[in-house]
Amino acid sequence: MQNFPGVGVSPGRIVGTIRQMPRPLAEPPTGDKLAPGTSAEEAADALRVAAKAVQSQLRERAAGASADAKAVLEATALMATDPMLIKASIKLINAGSSAERAVWEAAEAVAAMLVNLGGYMAERATDVLDVRARIVASLRGVPAPGIPSSATPFILIAEDLAPADTATLDPVKVIALVTAGGGPQSHTAIIARSLGLPAVVAAAGVDQLADGTEVYVDGAAGTIATEPGDSERAAALAWAANASTLAVFDGHGTTADGHLVPLLANVGGAKDAVKAAAAGAQGVGLLRTEFCFLERETEPTIDEQVKAYRGVFDAFPGKKVVVRTLDAGADKPLPFLTDASEPNPALGVRGYRTDMSSPGVLERQLAAIAQAADGATAEVWVMAPMISTPDEAARFASLCAAAGLKTPGVMVEVPSAAVTSESILGQVEFASLGTNDLTQYTMAADRQLGPLAALNNPWQPAVLQLVRLTVAGALAEGSGKPVGVCGEAAADPALAVVLVGLGVSTLSMTARSLAAVGAVLATVTLKEAQEIATLALRATSPAEARDRARGKLPILAELGL
Ligand code: PEP
Ligand code: MG
Repeated sequence: MQNFPGVGVSPGRIVGTIRQMPRPLAEPPTGDKLAPGTSAEEAADALRVAAKAVQSQLRERAAGASADAKAVLEATALMATDPMLIKASIKLINAGSSAERAVWEAAEAVAAMLVNLGGYMAERATDVLDVRARIVASLRGVPAPGIPSSATPFILIAEDLAPADTATLDPVKVIALVTAGGGPQSHTAIIARSLGLPAVVAAAGVDQLADGTEVYVDGAAGTIATEPGDSERAAALAWAANASTLAVFDGHGTTADGHLVPLLANVGGAKDAVKAAAAGAQGVGLLRTEFCFLERETEPTIDEQVKAYRGVFDAFPGKKVVVRTLDAGADKPLPFLTDASEPNPALGVRGYRTDMSSPGVLERQLAAIAQAADGATAEVWVMAPMISTPDEAARFASLCAAAGLKTPGVMVEVPSAAVTSESILGQVEFASLGTNDLTQYTMAADRQLGPLAALNNPWQPAVLQLVRLTVAGALAEGSGKPVGVCGEAAADPALAVVLVGLGVSTLSMTARSLAAVGAVLATVTLKEAQEIATLALRATSPAEARDRARGKLPILAELGL
């Protein structure tokens, strides 16, 4: 038996076989020529065979896919043998280029042309680049990039996952996620929680296991073990039986003594919002608008934006929906806003700061939000990501006012904003703590890096102190402006209790976690939550803070959380 300790980021116990996510494909070198002894005809034939093979693989996948994915896969399959792509590639081969390099360059040109056409055609550019990678993989005889396809459910092992990978992640097939890299605030963790999949990150060495190996994953303990025995199988069965009781939230977040804590949902678009409403979310605490446009090379039009936001508002009639303006950069690059060559993207021109480098995009987004809110009954609040100073908060508030948006707010995810929350809240109506980034910036630990996972933990007493300071600043400001939490910390039921004890007024999380957080919160009074928060604050390590809080919450063990 081999054990791979990591960091548990989404609870659940499961036994299954693994599939490794292929590594991203390296670009064939510029100027790569036909290999000596290979004729242009042979290379062209190899290219046609590879393109056909890719087309059949995609059609096979389409046959077994859900309706949405089927349409995407069928369109991509057609692209694989697109005459323009093949002709342009063969022309380059005839001029002496290797088949790999030829298709690489030809697809680049086709994609650029589609982008220039704009609208629907521009969105197809990603499909061309996907097909290109698959053809090159086929020519090299290596597995195609992206999530592997499989007839049977499997545990996906990856170095890390990007937000764009989720588009092809089928939660019926993928039953757990394990990454060798990534931290607890990484997008793999966010994706896993939103899909309700058991997940462990930063499990070094797990990417060396062979496809088909049977393993046991415990997403709460953060462990992976090969050769599971009877006790692991029994634990997996017990979890499956328990999971259904954690699937239902009654839509009322409250402590045992009736202190109301609305439990809201984090969503990335209308589809998520509909699911969140069905799961009992009391509103939306974070609409990640950049998730609506991750695939886009160009700025979405106002009409496209209105449609995307309106879909979310309509899922929550009469309820609060907090829209966050585009948070591009670092782990969520948007080609039309961020500079991929920045040496230090997490500390770069990201979030609200892109207003400096791309003036106008923010104003147009605010206009679109206002237009979408007009006529919808949702109570629309708007906040900016990565605010660092009161001046930035003031400017954002004035832009919101100019767009007719009445409730401007800020994310508190940079330590400077936590420390100056009193002045910042003097400029806006509310704050929402983004504990994912607040943790990475407080601890100076990239949230995507596995080796720093221990530092990158929202239970760090330093992070809890900044939460306390933010709430204290809001109280000192005087008018009782609300401070919520929309980082992943809110989805950890024990940490949620601590946050409530520290004085936050709402918790926003992936819809999957609402029931678990609601169930645990309902077992403590506000006073008990405050006492638990004090214990956690006084701890000297994240492990001690967590153990202290968990020790006071016996319900967690009962529910297997
Ligand atoms: C955060 O940083 O906590 C947050 C909610 O924003 P994101 O995870 O999208 O960066
Ligand atoms: Mg953030």
